[in-house]
Amino acid sequence: MQGFNKYYPPDFDPNTHGSLNSYQGKHALGNRAHKIDQGILVVRFELPFNIWCGTCENHIGMGVRYNAEKKKIGSYYSTPIFSFRCKCHLCDGYFEIETDPKNTRYVVTSGARQKDEDWDPEENGGYAIHDNDPNKPPADPLATLEKTTAAQKDLKEVKAPRIEELQGLSEKLNADPYTLSVKARNRFRQQKRQDAEKQRKLGVIKQKYGLADSLLLEEDDEQARRAAQDAWRRGRAELTSLNRTQRKAHIRSSTSLFPSSIGTSRPSGATAPSPAATSLRARLLAPRKVIK
Ligand SMILES: [Zn+2]
Repeated sequence: MQGFNKYYPPDFDPNTHGSLNSYQGKHALGNRAHKIDQGILVVRFELPFNIWCGTCENHIGMGVRYNAEKKKIGSYYSTPIFSFRCKCHLCDGYFEIETDPKNTRYVVTSGARQKDEDWDPEENGGYAIHDNDPNKPPADPLATLEKTTAAQKDLKEVKAPRIEELQGLSEKLNADPYTLSVKARNRFRQQKRQDAEKQRKLGVIKQKYGLADSLLLEEDDEQARRAAQDAWRRGRAELTSLNRTQRKAHIRSSTSLFPSSIGTSRPSGATAPSPAATSLRARLLAPRKVIK
C-alpha cells in the first residue's frame, strides 16, 4: 500500500529512509509501477481505431480502454517510440500497438488487425495521388503556384516592368552623387545660417529684457494674425453695441476709444491721438474687410 497519508511512524528516520514511500518499500505510482524494473508502467490506453482481435476474431471498437503496459522500445530521432500491450477483454489474448512518430500515427504490431479506414480518394470519386516515392522531396506549393499561367503573365507584364522602372529611377537619382552632395550641403549651410541669425535676435531680446534663462517662443505668423483678428472683433463688437448717435459721438472723441489700452502713456489733457490709436480708428471705420 502506498503512503497516502502523512503519518510518520516512530521508527522513521529521514536520513535512512528518505521518504515514506521508500520506508514502506513502495513506488510513488503504486501498483501501476509493479513492473517498473522492466521499464513497464501500466497506463490507461484508449484504442485509436477499430481492430479485430487476432485470438478471438472479435471486432473491438475505437475508444475501448485498457490497462496497457507502456514501454519504451526505441526512438525516432529524439522522439521515443512506445508500445502498449493490452489484454483483450473478450478473450485471454494480448495485442500490441506502437506509436509511429515518423507518420504521427499508431500501428498494430501483433495480436490484432487494424480496420483500414484511411481516406481513399478513388473510392470517394476523386483521383488517387501517385506520389509514393520516398526519395522525392516534398512538393513546394509556392513553386507550383509560380509555374501557373496567371503568375507567369503577372511576372512578365507587371512585375518585370515595375522592377525595370525602379532600377531606372534609382540609377537616375544616383547618377551624380557629387551634385547631390553639394546640393544637400548648401541647403544645410543655409539652414544653419538662418538658425544662427534667429538665435542672435533672440539673444538681443533676452539681453534687453533680462531673460537670460527664459525660453522665448519663436515668432509665429499664425499667432500674430489671430491676435489681430481678435482685437478687430472686440472693437467691432464694442462699436456695434452702441446706437447710432452714441457711435458718432464715440468716433468723434477718438481719444476715448480704447483709452485704457492706448492712451496710458500720454499725459492727461492731451488731445492728439497717438499714431496707434489713429490707425486702429481708421481700421474700425474702414469698410468691413474679410481677414483671412
Ligand atoms: Zn480477443
